[in-house]
Amino acid sequence: IEPLLRVEGLKTWFETPAGTVRAVDGVDFDIRQGETFVLLGESGCGKSMTALSVMRLIPAPPGHMTARRVVLDEEDLLGLPEVAMRKLRGRKMAMIFQEPQTSLNPVFTVGDQIGESLRVHLGLRGRSLRRRILDLLEAVGIPDPGQRVNDYPHQFSGGMKQRVMIAMALAGEPELLIADEPTTALDVTIQAQILALLKRLQEERGLSILLITHDLGVVSQVADRIGVMYAGHLVEQASRERFFTDPLHPYSRKLFEALPHRGKRDQRLSVIRGSVPSLAQPFKACRFADRCDFAWDACQGQAPKWLLAESGHYVRCHLYDPEIAPTRPHTGQDN
Ligand code: SF4
Ligand code: MG
Repeated sequence: IEPLLRVEGLKTWFETPAGTVRAVDGVDFDIRQGETFVLLGESGCGKSMTALSVMRLIPAPPGHMTARRVVLDEEDLLGLPEVAMRKLRGRKMAMIFQEPQTSLNPVFTVGDQIGESLRVHLGLRGRSLRRRILDLLEAVGIPDPGQRVNDYPHQFSGGMKQRVMIAMALAGEPELLIADEPTTALDVTIQAQILALLKRLQEERGLSILLITHDLGVVSQVADRIGVMYAGHLVEQASRERFFTDPLHPYSRKLFEALPHRGKRDQRLSVIRGSVPSLAQPFKACRFADRCDFAWDACQGQAPKWLLAESGHYVRCHLYDPEIAPTRPHTGQDN
């Protein structure tokens, strides 16, 4: 059956004084009904830009988005006029962000803000509107909705604000929820609660979720499938089980090596030697070559292809290319 979302050949470029920045440079993935697909990678790899591109929220100019296909529930998003796209946002797909306070208006009660989404997307008024606001607050686990509905954002903790944002995102009954680092600003206990909430809502509503994170701990808690992004494109894609038992790409393996140790909280990915290359250049080599322990001449000479390693498990690396891998000199030092 057709996936809910299909993205093929997505490119999002920005014209800047420094040249063309290829923030997203050829990304393909799909998301099935009811699954959680995670985009994993360090910041600056194009994860958020990929999500904003799917929502068609890239400012143009200086941004410019192209793709072979972006199809949501059999609707071609590339061809839709902006007015139709606006209807679809919130109704078919909705997005939540890392900092809920930046998306909440401090001068309106949370009830008013959720109510506004319900008016816009579902046309609800009066009693049925009030009823639905309370249902949503309850659905996202806000205690005592009848009371809290009249409170202002500053009266909520960070975790509770994120729950309000999720309620607003669900107001239009979207099929796809895009969550960009939804728990990064929260402490570990609250993070686990929000992830559990997303899982429960997914089960209850058959939601599909595109979740963006740099945190392997988050991936292990919620992912069904994972796409690892590096320097503007995907370098690996696998089921959670495959990814955690047998990560293939040298970058993915670095992500695991960079974990402090099991069970520790802040599983950030910033301790990998080197940094993501500038995206203001066309690449002729492997984008990871400068940081890769396995690199050899071929990696500088040509960009690796997207290869099917085994069923459902893709990788972009010469080590898995049967034509190129044999050219690698044997050093005896591989780990
Ligand atoms: Fe490393 Fe070469 Fe594979 Fe790139 S293609 S990840 S440089 S081994
Ligand atoms: Mg980001």
